Amino acid sequence: MSGMIDRFGRKITYLRISVTDRCDFRCIYCMPEHMTFLPRDEVLTLEELDRLCGAFVRKGVRRLRVTGGEPLVRRNVMWLFERLGERIGNGLNELTLTTNGSQLSRFAPALFAAGVRRVNVSLDTLDHARFRAITRWGDLAKVIAGIDAAQTAGLAIKINMVALRGVNDDEIPRMLEWAHGRGADFTLIETMPLGEVEHRIEQYLPLSLVRSRLAQQYTLTESAYRTGGPARYFQVAETGGRIGFITPLTHNFCETCNRMRVTCTGTLYMCLGQNDSADLRTPLRTSDDSGLLDGVIDEAIGRKPKGHDFIIDRRHREPALSRHMSLTGG
Ligand code: SAM
Ligand code: SF4
Repeated sequence: MSGMIDRFGRKITYLRISVTDRCDFRCIYCMPEHMTFLPRDEVLTLEELDRLCGAFVRKGVRRLRVTGGEPLVRRNVMWLFERLGERIGNGLNELTLTTNGSQLSRFAPALFAAGVRRVNVSLDTLDHARFRAITRWGDLAKVIAGIDAAQTAGLAIKINMVALRGVNDDEIPRMLEWAHGRGADFTLIETMPLGEVEHRIEQYLPLSLVRSRLAQQYTLTESAYRTGGPARYFQVAETGGRIGFITPLTHNFCETCNRMRVTCTGTLYMCLGQNDSADLRTPLRTSDDSGLLDGVIDEAIGRKPKGHDFIIDRRHREPALSRHMSLTGG
C-alpha cells in the first residue's frame, strides 16, 4: 500500500467527512435562517458512509474527522462512530469530530466508548444573548453543559472560534482564558467565503491583526505543535495553554495540505476552496466491488489542485464559492 500521493508530492492522510447537511443551529456566517436542505435520498446512508471511509482508510487515510452540518443530529450516527472506531488500530490512527456541542451531553460517553479521544467544539462567544444572535437557534447553556460532559467522559476539547469583526472580536482574550482555564486548546478561524450569507465582508477580520493585538497582552511563542490540521500554534505564557490560528486568507497553508473532504452526498472535494470534485456516490451505489470506487478516488487525487483561490475583496463581491460550509464540512 503506497498511500495516496498527489502530483505535488503531498501525501493525503486526513479525510474530513460530512455526515449530514442538517443542523440545529443557523450560524450567521454559515447558512441563512431559512436554509434549504438536501432531499434524503441524495445523502449517503450510514452504511455507505462506512464503506466510503473504509475505502479511504485502505488507501492511506490515518485521521478521520466527522463533521457536517451538525454530525450529532444525524439519526443513529453512533452506529457509524462505532463502525469507524473499529478501524482504529486497523489502518486508522485517529477518529475525531467537529460539533456545535448542542448534543454532547447526550453522546459524550458513547463517543469515548467508540474510540473518539478529541473533539472540536465550535463556540464563538460566552455571552448568552450574543450566542443566540450568532447561532440564531442555539442555547449557550446546553453547549457549556455538553463541553462539561465531554471533559468528564475523558474527551480532550479544542474550542474553535470564528473571529468576526464587530461581533465577537472584543471577546477573544476572555475566550482564550476561559478555554485554557478549563484545560482546552483554543483556535481562531477566519471566515471563509463559502456560500452566500449577509455581512461577510464587513465581518471579515484578518487574524494577523488579532495576533498582533494579542501579542501586546500575552507572551506568544511559536510552537512546533501540529494536530495534522491547518492551524499554526503559539504557546501562551500567561495561561499555560496553546492558541491556534487557522488563516486561509492571510496565510496560505496549501503547500502542506494533506487533506480532502467528502460531502454527505459523497462528493469528494480535493480542496475546500476549489470547485473541482469527484462523484463517489455513483460508484458506491452501482457496485459492491471496491474496484470502481478505488479507481474514481485515484483519478481524483491526480487532480488535487495546488491551492485555493479564496478572496474576500470589497471590489469583487461575487467570488464566494456557492456551496455552504455545512455541505462540505468544516
Ligand atoms: N456543526 C458543526 C460545528 O459547528 O462545529 C460542524 C460543522 S461546521 C460547518 C464546522 C466549522 O466550520 C465550525 O467551526 C464553524 O464555525 C465553521 N464555519 C462555518 N462556516 C464558516 C465560514 N464561512 N468560514 C469559516 N468557518 C466557518
Ligand atoms: Fe450548524 Fe456548524 Fe453551520 Fe453553525 S457552523 S450552522 S453549528 S453547521
